[in-house]
This record gives sequence, C-alpha cells and structure tokens, in this order.
Amino acid sequence: MVTRASSGRRWRVALLGLGGALLVLVAVLVVNALRLPAPTPPPAVQPPAPIPAAATERLAQALRFRTVSHDDPAQDDPSQLIALRGFLERSFPRVHAQLARELVSEHSLVFSWPGRRPDLPPVLLMGHQDVVPVEDERAWTQPPFGGVVAGGFVWGRGAIDDKQAVLGILEACEALLGEGFTPARTVYLAFGHDEEASGLEGARRIAERFAARGVRFAFVLDEGGFYTEGTLPGLTVPAALIGTAEKGYLSLELTTEGEPGHSSRPPQQMAIGILARALERLQAQPFPARLEGAPRDMLVTLAPRLPFGQRVALANLWLLSPVVARGLTSEPSSAAMVRTTTALTIVEGGYKENVLPGRARAVVNFRLLPGDTVAGTIARVRSIVDDERVKLRPLSAGGAAGGAGQGSEPLAIEPAAASRVGSPGWRVVARATQEAWRQGDLAVTPWLLTGASDSRYFVPLADDVYRFTGFTIRPPDAARFHGVDERIAVGDYRRAIEVYYRVLRGLDALDPSGDPARR
Ligand SMILES: [Zn+2]
Repeated sequence: MVTRASSGRRWRVALLGLGGALLVLVAVLVVNALRLPAPTPPPAVQPPAPIPAAATERLAQALRFRTVSHDDPAQDDPSQLIALRGFLERSFPRVHAQLARELVSEHSLVFSWPGRRPDLPPVLLMGHQDVVPVEDERAWTQPPFGGVVAGGFVWGRGAIDDKQAVLGILEACEALLGEGFTPARTVYLAFGHDEEASGLEGARRIAERFAARGVRFAFVLDEGGFYTEGTLPGLTVPAALIGTAEKGYLSLELTTEGEPGHSSRPPQQMAIGILARALERLQAQPFPARLEGAPRDMLVTLAPRLPFGQRVALANLWLLSPVVARGLTSEPSSAAMVRTTTALTIVEGGYKENVLPGRARAVVNFRLLPGDTVAGTIARVRSIVDDERVKLRPLSAGGAAGGAGQGSEPLAIEPAAASRVGSPGWRVVARATQEAWRQGDLAVTPWLLTGASDSRYFVPLADDVYRFTGFTIRPPDAARFHGVDERIAVGDYRRAIEVYYRVLRGLDALDPSGDPARR
C-alpha cells in the first residue's frame, strides 16, 4: 500500500530527475551551438577582372530582341532569335573566331573551347536566350524590350532571367581570349532557346548530342542561384546561394463526370461538387514537411552567422529537425524548401448558368522535394482524394495550353539528384563567387532551386551541376523574375561577368587527382 507521503516523495525524486535531465539537455543544446565552426574568412582580394565598359550597353542591346517563348509555340517569332544570334556574332568577334559553334534545333547555340588538357573531363557553362512574355508593357517603368540603361540599372525582360548569363559568359570568354588565355580543360557553352517552354528542343537536344558523343562533364554551371542581401530572416551578412539541387515537377489533371442536364432537376452528386471536394482535400492535406538535403545543408552553413536562438536550433537538428521543418512551413517561400508543394492552378466546368455540365476539370501543380518521386506523388494524391469518380492524369507538354495534350511529351520531371558540396567543382564556383564579391564577409551556401532550369537535362551527364549567376537579389527584387520591372544593377552585371571570368581562370585549380571523374 502506498501512503500519500511516500507517493509525494517519489514524485519529488522523479521531478528532480526530469529537471536534471532537462538541464543536461539544455547544456548539450547550448554547447553544440557554441561549438559551431566560425565562418571561414574571405579570400585575399584579387585585382578586378578587365571587363570593358561597353559590356553594359551590349546587355541592354540584347534585351531589345523579343526572344519570347509562349505557351503556344505558334506565337513565337524565330526571326528574333536569328537577329539575336547575328548581334552576338558582331559583339563577340574573338569567341566566334576561336571557338567552334554549332546550332542545335536551329536556334540553340553550343560553343566549344578546347582546353590545354583534352584528356580531362570538360566543363559546361549555360544560359538561355529566350524570355517569358510580358503581360502588360504599360505597367513597366521602362519599356520591357527597350534595352534602357537608367538610374544605374539595365532594364528589360531577360535582365536577370537569363540574358545576363548568356552575355555575361560571352563577355568573360571574350576578355580571356583577349588575354591569350587557354582554359585548363575544354569548356563548352550552351545557350538554349526554349528554356521557358521546358527546354524540350533546346537543352534536351543539346544534352542528347553530348550523350551520343560520350561527353561527361566535371561540372555544369547554369542559372538558378544568386547573391542575396537582406532576404533571409536573421542573416545580417550577404550570401551566395549556389543551387545544388532542383525540385521536380508534376501537373496532374483531375476530371469528374456527372449526368448532364437541366439545372432544375439536379442530382445529389454533381461533377463540379465531386471535383471541389477533391480539391479541398488536397488543399487541406499538404505533403509532410521534412528538413533534409540542400535546405538542411544551407541552414547548417548559415548557422554560425545567425542569432543565438536560431543557432541553438540549427546546431541540434538531430533533435529539433521536425520542429524547424514545421516552423519553415509558415512562409510560402520557406515552405517550398521543406515539402512537395500543392498548387491548385486551373479549374474549369460548366458553360451555361442553368445547365449541369457533364464534366469538370482541374489542374494541380506539384513541385517535388528531392527524395519524393512522380509515382509516389500520384499515389499520395490518389489516397488523399480517395474517390474513384475523380480521374487523375499527368499533364503533357502543351496540355496546359491546349487541354488535351494527347500524345505529346510528358511534363513531369523527377527531382534532380543533389550535387556535392566541397567537391573540386564546388570549390571553383564558391571561390569565384567570393572573389567577385569583394565586400568582405559572404556566406557561400548550397541551395535548393524551387523552380526548374535547363540544367536538369545535364544531371545524368555531369558529376555535379551548380546553379548560380552573379547578380544580387535584395528584398523587393524577387518579384522581378517573370514579373514587372525586371532589371539588373550595372555593378551587379559586371560582378556576374566577373564570376564567370573567375570560374574559367579557376579551372586550373581543379586538381585532376581530386577530380571524381578521374578516379
Ligand atoms: Zn531562366
């Protein structure tokens, strides 16, 4: 029999034990936070790369070509790509005289620049020539295809997505050729013409051509990441976000059928209602959040530079990872880093206010977190919807515009495998981003690209794929991607060129013995 006194004593002992355990736990958490390595100091400042002043005007001119990729390819104007190509020929004479150029699918450009060591795996630098359409030209401060330089910016569609990469790479190569430079290993340049329409005829065909020739790259550098200042909560220093992974892509069409007829005698269950229930379920049951891969590496890399509270959490992800992941779901931009996202994008059904439609249709767009698969996502959607009257079908390319898209290319893309941090290629790119920054402390960190880039076609052909162009995104700038008033600061563009310049010069440091392709 337990007396009141002895039970109270046991409680006190248990509480003391628990309190002690908690104290030890808190001590472990704090010690882990204090033991985080200090940030590495920036490298020695290098003399600036010799970038001509005319580079700014050349970018502005390139923005005047309306190389727009539309959802409906019939609206595209190939003469603009041809005109841009002629402009590049006139603007970069050394590149066109000394590098071999091939055209792929008529408008995509591939240049090859033989290196001193043709036996070593080559490197590929990428950008894309096409841009997205402009919804309302009158909403812009400067005309989107005017190529205006004003107030310290180059304005126009393509200024940060992605003509700054195409022109920036060519500027770096032209400058290096002027110095009599030959790269340590062969360098390829690839500029697709339909990235904004999934790269099916551009980057995909280029990748097929390289694959057929048995080319394997030490690393690929494409668009995706950038420098950022003041956009990451708690981080007071600027950061270079180098994309090491890329989310996958899937659009699912949901269709329901009902008895068509007069709205005066409606049945209990109707096509639109059944569809609406399925969509509501998908919205109410987001995919679970988990912190892993590139976003986890990013937070761990940034941790030493974050406020103490965040540092404690990030130094103890062994325990707190689920809590941190849940916290990140509160904002759409950070939620995209920790889960496969569900976006309800199209709903259609009905054509007359007093007629029951026989069919209703919706499209749901998913961006897959690395680790998830297209098949697994479809299976999960099926189980959430849990209604056999709702038909599911992955959308094909062209399906978003035309509805059916029957027999065309599948639009679904598996998430890209993560590239390594700390590999020889990473060190070349990371060092170039630091040397070109020139303004003291910079956090260089891996990053997950939540959009899609042409580089996904090259993942099977490369040891590593990195996604970075050296412009800077400050808090209001993120909306300029595919948005109104796309622009790049003149100084940012010069830095973007310098990153490519330093990557090419840095190839000498790609140690063959440490090169995984040589092992
Ligand atoms: Zn782009």
